This record gives sequence, C-alpha cells and structure tokens, in this order.
Amino acid sequence: MIILGIETTCDETGLALIEFKNSRFRILNHKLRSQNNIHSVYGGIVPILAAREHKKNLPILYQQLIREINFSEEKIDFLAFSNGPGLPPSLISGKEFVIDLANKLNVNIIPINHLIAHFYSVLINKNKLNIWQKIKTISLPAIGLLISGGHTLLVYFESLDKIKKIGETIDDAIGESLDKSARILGLEYPGGPKLEKLAKKGRPIFNLPYPLMATKNFNFSFSGLKTAFWELVEEIKRYKKLDEVTKADLAASYQKTAFEILLIKTKMADEKYKPKSLIISGGVAANYYLRKMFIKYFGKNKIIFPVKSLATDNGIKIAFSGYFFKDESILPANLEVHPNLKI
Ligand code: AMP
Ligand code: MG
Repeated sequence: MIILGIETTCDETGLALIEFKNSRFRILNHKLRSQNNIHSVYGGIVPILAAREHKKNLPILYQQLIREINFSEEKIDFLAFSNGPGLPPSLISGKEFVIDLANKLNVNIIPINHLIAHFYSVLINKNKLNIWQKIKTISLPAIGLLISGGHTLLVYFESLDKIKKIGETIDDAIGESLDKSARILGLEYPGGPKLEKLAKKGRPIFNLPYPLMATKNFNFSFSGLKTAFWELVEEIKRYKKLDEVTKADLAASYQKTAFEILLIKTKMADEKYKPKSLIISGGVAANYYLRKMFIKYFGKNKIIFPVKSLATDNGIKIAFSGYFFKDESILPANLEVHPNLKI
C-alpha cells in the first residue's frame, strides 16, 4: 500500500510517499519547503502569505516528488492530509490541492489530526529514503508531551488510538514563546533554534517566574514568562548596552526556565499516571538542551523523541499516520478542514 502524505497546516509545505507492507514501511521520497525566509521579515507567520506559498509550491513539489524517482502516480492508494488544527488559509490551500489530486487519481482521502501525527512520528526510526524499517513499538500506557510552534499539550495514551488530553497551555505555545523571546533579543524568526545556539554560550544567571506551578493541574502558561523576560531586558538596557555575553546569559536563562516548566508538569503527570513511556514530539523537541534535561530526569529508556529531522512539520509524519487511520478514509467531496481540531 502506498500513501501520499500532505502537510500544509502552518508554514511548511510537506509531501511524502510511503510504502507499507506488513508493519514495515519505506519512505520512497519526500519534499519539504519551509517559508522561513518569507515570514522572518515580519517576525512571525503571515497566514495569507503562507497560503499563497502553499498554493504555488504544492504542484511544483508534487512533480519533483514523483519525477525524481520515476514514480507512476497510479500506484498511490490513498492521500493522507492534515486537515487541522492549523491556520485557516493554509489549510484551505492544501485542501483544494488534495481534492483535485484525489479526484484525478480516483482515490480516497485520509484526514489526519496534525497533533496526533506529531506523536506518531516517534514510531519512525530513520528518516532515510528507500530503507525498509519496522514500525517502532512503545510500551503503553504512555504520556505524550507535544511542544511545537502552535501547541503545548500533555496527553495520556491508554493505547495508540485511545488518547486523552490532560493539560495544555492557556495562552502562548512553548515554540511561540521561544520565538517571541528570541525576537526580544533581536534574533530572526523562527527564533527557537537561534536561541538554543546563543544559549549554549551563556549561563542561566537571571531569575524568571514559573507561572502556574502552584496549581495541581497539568496546564501551562508562557505569556507571563515572556512579559517578565521583556521587562528584564528593558531594565538591563536602561543601564547598559546589550552585549553578546549578556544576550547569551538571557537566552540561557529563558530556555532553562521555559523547559523547567515543561519538566515540572511532566513529572507531575508521570507521578499521577505512572506511564511506561514518555513521548516528546513537536519542533521544540529538536532542542538538544531540552533532550538532555528530560533524559537526565526520566532516563534514556523511558523517553522517546522523534528523529531530529522529523520533529518539525513535514509530510512524512502525515503519510505515516495515514497507515493507522486508513479505515477512516473519505471521498474527496467530503473533506473539510478544522482550524481548531482537538485531541
Ligand atoms: P512545529 O510547529 O512543530 O513545526 O515547530 C516549529 C517550532 O519549533 C518553532 O517555534 C521553532 O522555533 C521551534 N524549534 C525548532 N527547532 C528548535 C530548537 N532546536 N530549539 C527550540 N525550538 C525549536
Ligand atoms: Mg511549522
């Protein structure tokens, strides 16, 4: 069975072709076009520009995807499409392309919840073309922590398809908060990876608040932390110029505090639910410092991260998730997008 996965929920256009055979699979080809250079001048994603880029790039990337491997498109069995949550204009651009293609190929569409695809991506061992690999197994029950540009979520997996949300951010997402604090330090969007690089040279010497830590629930808040960070930077600027050393110390302090907040709530969930494993996914899971911090506390065997190159949005995780939801495929005419889709 061959599934073409398509990702357009935000600012990444991703396509991937995956072949499945008896709980083994191989990635035949994939394409990913990120729009960072377009949005970086605005300091964040401009939805209408993102949609325009998806519309322009989808047919180009699709042609590259199939031509590079001389693939005949009649072999595609399903299209898997992430129909939410996401930015409405981006989702609509993707939907139009997917419906046209599904009609042309005469195949059904598997709607994929983007949040679930982030978690399922940890079941992929290698991001290499043409290598047959087994779908990774994980010990259940598990706790899942999704940390991305648009989401911060704790879930409980009784089984792979029985998922319950137990906590989420009540304001900014962790990735968004890293991007915004990076911007306060003059770093370009997306700031998360740049903040990580800068933080490596710094020491976490500044104290910042830990919002919602006294509450017994599993919700997060990052907007107060970002405001406190902004005030701290303004305060420092009042008496001296922001030099590189201070900037690095500020970056290290922000990163440490934000990740400790994630760690504390995850520890609380671990104590209550006593899971056998802990899945951490989403773009921020690419962060080395965060990986080290969680592994140090929970141990290497309990924690499961995605392959680093699959942490952020891509078509591979959508095609891969399609395999698990193929029985829920629909006719192209019935496809709808859900910008606020939940778990
Ligand atoms: P996603 O929403 O899953 O596509 O992930 C994008 C988010 O992940 C953005 O907010 C990025 O700043 C963040 N991100 C990506 N790489 C890193 C990293 N190495 N450290 C921290 N944040 C990162
Ligand atoms: Mg993204």
